[in-house]
Amino acid sequence: MPEAKVFPGARIGVLGGGQLGGMFAAAATRMGYLVEAFSDTADCPAARVCDRVHVVDFADETRLASLAAGLAAVTLEFENIPARAAAAVAAVTRLRPSPEVLFTTQDRGREKAFLATHGFPCAKHALIRSRGELPRAAATVGFPSVLKTTAFGYDGKGQRKVGSPAELEAAFDAFGGQETVLEEWVEFECELSVVAARGEDGEIAAFAPSRNEHANHILDVAVAPSGLAEPQVRGARELAEGVLETLGVVGTACVEMFLARDGRLLVNEIAPRPHNSGHLTIDACETSQFEQQLRALCGLPLGSPRQVSPAAMVNLLGDCWANGEPDWAAALGVPGVRLSLYGKSDPRPGRKMGHLTAVGATAEEAVERASLARRLSSAGRANGPSSSC
Ligand code: AMP
Repeated sequence: MPEAKVFPGARIGVLGGGQLGGMFAAAATRMGYLVEAFSDTADCPAARVCDRVHVVDFADETRLASLAAGLAAVTLEFENIPARAAAAVAAVTRLRPSPEVLFTTQDRGREKAFLATHGFPCAKHALIRSRGELPRAAATVGFPSVLKTTAFGYDGKGQRKVGSPAELEAAFDAFGGQETVLEEWVEFECELSVVAARGEDGEIAAFAPSRNEHANHILDVAVAPSGLAEPQVRGARELAEGVLETLGVVGTACVEMFLARDGRLLVNEIAPRPHNSGHLTIDACETSQFEQQLRALCGLPLGSPRQVSPAAMVNLLGDCWANGEPDWAAALGVPGVRLSLYGKSDPRPGRKMGHLTAVGATAEEAVERASLARRLSSAGRANGPSSSC
């Protein structure tokens, strides 16, 4: 039996109070919902947009359950939510994506096992639970390779490239002997991601793949269309759709991929939530990734993911504030550019403070505009702009 629809006017929740939660709340508030965020800090980006923020300890399942019981539906904006907290919320209201999806995707080992079990292509890898398993993993995967902790890794944290058994041992020890995955180093043509939404009824709507460039392991530039040939675009979409369907995601999720130099598309990571590379959907698509998350959560029809204009996004990291507030007037003087700031007060290096998006007649023009806006915003600074700001 289909689940009851949750209509505008209802109170809904989001686990997490970061910028993704804030952008979800903005989309939901616009459509008449009241949004309550669950965060470990009161002064979180979502606080500016939500009806209420509950400052919670995610280990306090009783309190989480009592707060969530008053909500018609709950979604999430980060995956490092303890499994017991997710289960406690799911026991009292609709939580989408489900605790099972969260459990699989919040651990690189389980995620890789899921991909391998269902025949989704990914880099050669081996799970390492103890020091004694290092030689077997090295023999399976070879070098160069990258050692990644299975838990709590993001933006390159908890990962190190290794070129020899000695480096592998040193990296394993540096991570404190915790569970890790050793992964083949992929020589890639480019990195891609496909953000897609899936409804309770199984309907899937995938956005066009975006082509992503990283700087210091953090997303720097995303652009769509990706410029790839049609068979590759279709392959990337089908891969993402297959992952969402097999995993049983309800909501918005992102499948990050490598296009290897030998032409293989390999899944790198699955994020069971909207993604940084999908922010340009707000400016360039008929429905944004956040509105799709809301529609899927509430059992409403998904919107069209059609892209109406080429678009690009550049991240604004805390580094861009190294010499004071950037010159936003200069950035906004570039045609087609829009600014999003997350309301964070402490611009530390590497911290995502906001982003700039640009539309253009072509993908190249969109990238040029967004990059120019970022350069101009920091042009007056004493030391000049660094590569990613
Ligand atoms: P991840 O945290 O797994 O998304 O990794 C962050 C970034 O590190 C990726 O977007 C890639 O640029 C790079 N990276 C991660 N794994 C690999 C790999 N197996 N081969 C080559 N580059 C990688």
